[in-house]
Amino acid sequence: MRVVFLGAPGVGKGTQAERVAAQFHHPKISTGDILREAVRNKTALGLEAKACMDQGKLVPDAVVVGIVKAKLAEPSCAEGFLLDGFPRTVTQAEELTGLLESKGQRLDRVLNFTVPRAEVVRRLSGRRSCPKCQAVFHVDSAPPKRDGVCDRCGAGLIQRADDQKETVDARLSVYEEQTAPLIAYYRQRGILSELDGSGPIEEVYRRVLHLLPERGAA
Ligand code: AMP
Repeated sequence: MRVVFLGAPGVGKGTQAERVAAQFHHPKISTGDILREAVRNKTALGLEAKACMDQGKLVPDAVVVGIVKAKLAEPSCAEGFLLDGFPRTVTQAEELTGLLESKGQRLDRVLNFTVPRAEVVRRLSGRRSCPKCQAVFHVDSAPPKRDGVCDRCGAGLIQRADDQKETVDARLSVYEEQTAPLIAYYRQRGILSELDGSGPIEEVYRRVLHLLPERGAA
């Protein structure tokens, strides 16, 4: 199963990708998570990416394509993978197509998550993230058992700098301008499925399973 989860920030694609990856034993490749880890570790990549990320802008295509290329070359990705947050521009999508073609592979499906804008803003502004294990919570709809503490690893939860109101607006504009054109790109290639991302996580998960190429195979 080679799948891309597409959609604006806050539509829940990361949460769903996490669950699908666990159920189907395929790696989830989240460029956002990889970049945040690089920023935390102050690597050359992190230093290059930080300014863009803090402003809600995209990191240059060549940088993220390099990350994904290295990940896809790992043996764990041979049987399939889930891409979360990549591609985000038409250039990235074209690079991905070329990369897979060079291995005799292609994407099976692209799931496009949609959620009304007001709900996206509510989700992002209430989101709390674990800086250690990347688990994600929401102050109202998915609170941790202990206030401010990660259920999974016990680290203190944070609000991502780019989940603050002003940056959220910038990220949504960037999505409209640079990422939304991918909907048409993948529709033209006949592999796009539309998915309503509103409602409880469990309910959305059932919709996701229904659209996946290996449905019921786990
Ligand atoms: P995310 O966690 O997917 O919302 O990503 C957080 C931030 O990382 C984005 O706002 C971008 O600055 C950067 N980023 C993640 N994935 C990409 C990508 N595919 N292309 C460019 N920038 C990215």
